[in-house]
Amino acid sequence: MTMPQTITVLALDVDGVLTDGKLYIADNGNVMKTFHAHDGLGISLWQKCGFHIVLISGRNENSVTVRANELGIEHVFQNSKNKIADLQSCIQAIGCTTEQVCFVGDDLGDLSIMNHVGYSIAVQNAATEVKTASDWVTSLPGGEGAVREAIEYLMKANGTWDSSVASMMQEHANQ
Ligand SMILES: [Mg+2]
Repeated sequence: MTMPQTITVLALDVDGVLTDGKLYIADNGNVMKTFHAHDGLGISLWQKCGFHIVLISGRNENSVTVRANELGIEHVFQNSKNKIADLQSCIQAIGCTTEQVCFVGDDLGDLSIMNHVGYSIAVQNAATEVKTASDWVTSLPGGEGAVREAIEYLMKANGTWDSSVASMMQEHANQ
C-alpha cells in the first residue's frame, strides 16, 4: 500500500465530499450547493506547497466552476462518465503516477477509482462499502470540513503542515 506521505495529487469527488451531498433545486432548475470555508483554506495550503488538486464530478454545475476558480483549481472534470479515464489524462499532464494520487470519495460510484489510485480516503458519512475499501476515514462528514481534515492528515504525514501553518500566520501578521 502507498504511504500517505508520498501523495502529491489529491483528487476529490464533489457531491458528498466537498459538499454535504444536498442539491437545492429551484423551480427554474438551478441547483445550489454549499462549500465549507475550512476546506477552501486547506486546499490553498496544499496548493501553496506545490501539490495538486483535481475535482471529478459526475454532475455539471456552474457553482462548482465558480468555487474551483475561487480556489485556483486547474484540474476540474464535470459530467465525468469515466472518473478513472479523466484522472489518467490529468496525471499525465501533471507528470506523476497513480501511486502518488489520493482520492477522497463518499459513495459507490467512487469505489473503482479508489481501488485504482495509491491511497484512498472516505468521508465519515460515506457508504459502508466505501469506508471498507478506503485506507483512512475522516472524522468529519462531507461538506463539513472532511477535505480539510484529509489535507491536514496528508500534510502532517509528509511533514509540510507545521511550516505551512507558520507561514500563513506570518502572512497574516504582516497584513
Ligand atoms: Mg459523491
